Amino acid sequence: MKIFGKSLHSLTGKLLVLIGSLFIISGSIAWYVFTFYTKEKLMDEAIKYAGSFVELTKKSTHYGMQNNQRETIQETIKAIGIAEGIRKVRIFNPEGKIAYSSKVDDIGSFVDKSDPTCQSCHVSPIRHPLGIEPQRLTVFKKAPWIITEGQGERLLKFVTPIYNEPSCYTAKCHVHSKNVKVLGLMEMDFSLSLIDKAIWKQTTFITVFGAIFAFVLSLSLCLILYKLVSKPVTLLADGMKEVASGELDYRVEINTKDEMGMLAQTYTRMTKELKAAREKLEGWTRALEEEVAKKTEEIRKSHEQMIHTEKLASLGRMAAGVAHEINSPLTGIVTFAHLMLKRIPPENKLDREDLEVIIEQAERCSKIIKGLLGFSRATPSEKRLLNINEVINRSIRMVSSKADFHNIKFEINMDDTLPPVAGDLSQLQQVFLNILINASDAMNNRGAIHVATRRVFENETAFVEVEFTDTGPGIPEEHLEKLFEPFFTTKPVGKGTGLGLAVSHGIIQEHGGTITAKSERGKGASFFIRLPIAEVN
Ligand code: ADP
Repeated sequence: MKIFGKSLHSLTGKLLVLIGSLFIISGSIAWYVFTFYTKEKLMDEAIKYAGSFVELTKKSTHYGMQNNQRETIQETIKAIGIAEGIRKVRIFNPEGKIAYSSKVDDIGSFVDKSDPTCQSCHVSPIRHPLGIEPQRLTVFKKAPWIITEGQGERLLKFVTPIYNEPSCYTAKCHVHSKNVKVLGLMEMDFSLSLIDKAIWKQTTFITVFGAIFAFVLSLSLCLILYKLVSKPVTLLADGMKEVASGELDYRVEINTKDEMGMLAQTYTRMTKELKAAREKLEGWTRALEEEVAKKTEEIRKSHEQMIHTEKLASLGRMAAGVAHEINSPLTGIVTFAHLMLKRIPPENKLDREDLEVIIEQAERCSKIIKGLLGFSRATPSEKRLLNINEVINRSIRMVSSKADFHNIKFEINMDDTLPPVAGDLSQLQQVFLNILINASDAMNNRGAIHVATRRVFENETAFVEVEFTDTGPGIPEEHLEKLFEPFFTTKPVGKGTGLGLAVSHGIIQEHGGTITAKSERGKGASFFIRLPIAEVN
């Protein structure tokens, strides 16, 4: 069920029902008390007025009675009987015989003593609150058995005794004896139609006015309730629904300074804090996702690295086997070819040239075999404490004497305070020489090589780092990842074997270090070698 568009279970609905019920109950009580009081007041006034009228009538007839002027009494009664609001005036003796009446036809007839009119007084005399005693009064409601003018009219009946007084039994007429106490009764009927009309008017007025007042008051109350309670509560409830559905930008516009306004402020503060917390949480989630992605990438790389290392290891083992098998026959070929060359006379140029080709090609094979043996690390390393700067200087001195390095400038920037590293001198030298020769090749034997050493930290572990940067054309990005693979070369056939960097990678790894390359096209290439600092006891 709904009331003003609100469910009866809603706060507004309950308030409306409660206030409405209280209003109806208290209004009804007020209405009843007020109309009852008005009725009583008007009746009291009527009785008071009628009582004094009865007294006046008695006094008016007193003189006539003392002088036994029956006609005067009858005329007075008649005159009073036609007055406005008076329905009947009668005087009858104790036996009930009507002696005087405003209705002449009644004179001489008897009043029926068993009549309820008489009985009501005889049996249960009513003591009037205004003290109109010993008169008796009765209010008859819609009494068709009372002969009155106009049906359904309420009548106020006064019946008052006429007592025997000294003036009565000493009067000349000697009508009454001294022993009789009550000489007769005066009965007067007053119409209550005017009073009833006034009561009806008053009641109607109170009812209509009360209803209009109640309607206006209820309407105002509803409007006040709607503005002060229902509307803000609905707005807040809507806001809460939005929050529950995850919408935190919804604003509740209540700008009052009362509790509702405070609630709205609390709501706004709460949504702001919730939003901040959510953003923080989202930030953490993003950071976590990034971290997970980073770690996944690291794991993927190390996995690839593992596979790569595994591949290289098996390739190395195979290469070592092949190299070992081929090395001896190849040495035999070269040795015997040299012997044959010595035996062939100089004029046999053709044979000599053929043999020289055999020797050249066999030596080339021998060079590859040596590389393969180095890659497979067939030669065991002999490690000792080395000053890395000295190893680099030795390597530079060795290449500087070569014609290929005559037009190459060395820019050296070494840290003299570096601690020693544990390494195999000839192997590390081989690594540095290979890098220097590659740089010279890349620069077409013309340019500069920047050589630097420094101490670096990786995961809180100190390393010695060696950097070689040349001014050559650099290494294309797609080549960077293949650089350390065996047999990767961009050099022409006969010049490169593609084993130099693969062997270097193996050597550095065996030393517990790393070798990496960085390059931007046209800006030269850089090689970084990191070696662990030796533990000196
Ligand atoms: P090789 O020297 O026999 O080719 P390496 O393993 O030493 O074998 O080198 C592999 C390849 O790496 C080279 O062929 C060359 O393409 C590239 N490279 C190495 N060093 C440099 C450098 N400093 N600048 C440009 N390219 C380089």
